[in-house]
Amino acid sequence: TVARKPLVAGNWKMHGLASSAPEFVQMVGAYPAIKDKVDLMVFPPATLLTSFATATRGAGVIVGAQDCHPEASGAFTGDISAEMVRDAGGGAVIVGHSERRSDHRETDQLIRAKAKAALRASLVGVVCVGETEDERKGGQALAVVGRQLAGSLPDESSPETIVVAYEPVWAIGTGLTPTVDEVAEMHRFIRDELARRFGDAGRAFRVLYGGSVKPGNAVELLAVEDVDGALVGGASLKADSFLAIARAA
Ligand code: PEP
Repeated sequence: TVARKPLVAGNWKMHGLASSAPEFVQMVGAYPAIKDKVDLMVFPPATLLTSFATATRGAGVIVGAQDCHPEASGAFTGDISAEMVRDAGGGAVIVGHSERRSDHRETDQLIRAKAKAALRASLVGVVCVGETEDERKGGQALAVVGRQLAGSLPDESSPETIVVAYEPVWAIGTGLTPTVDEVAEMHRFIRDELARRFGDAGRAFRVLYGGSVKPGNAVELLAVEDVDGALVGGASLKADSFLAIARAA
């Protein structure tokens, strides 16, 4: 088996103002005590990226953006490039979150281009995949995730530069989670797909679980074979709950 350092990542979505900084500063302050055991990433709204990057300097918490445009610059009003994220002090970017796949009709092809932009800008790309409730009920969960992986991951992906996050859409923000057996089945499937495509390196990619991870269920979910950490939404906004999850990893 390959040793993979756990990663706990917090997706703040469209939450957070300058007044949220103390929450982040608390996370940064607590991190040195667990740094050897777990990597920590926080994805605030882009408006807070620079100030958070400044606040974490030296402590090792990586900050990142929730999305990026495939191009480095250009006439793309409202978009932010991977290079801009890097310039603002970011070290990572989420691409293909289900809210972007659904609300902004993002395709696997676009997400792959965004992941390539992350690699180009030396950012870690956190590539999200996951089935809807109907797809799971229809027995299509593995097929859907397999298709998303094949379409969204660049050929240049490596364990150091790309992280996969499995986030069943029906578990995001709902308080619902798959059973431990369902998580294990999906993560085993993702691991096998990565090994099939990337050979031995496929065994070294980190694959996170995301969807209603809370302090109360983190120990159980993070103990599942081939779960290398968590992507956390709601529970990542407060230092106490986010750190409790990080300590469970
Ligand atoms: C997410 O949006 O990535 C997520 C997992 O959200 P939550 O933890 O709130 O379900």
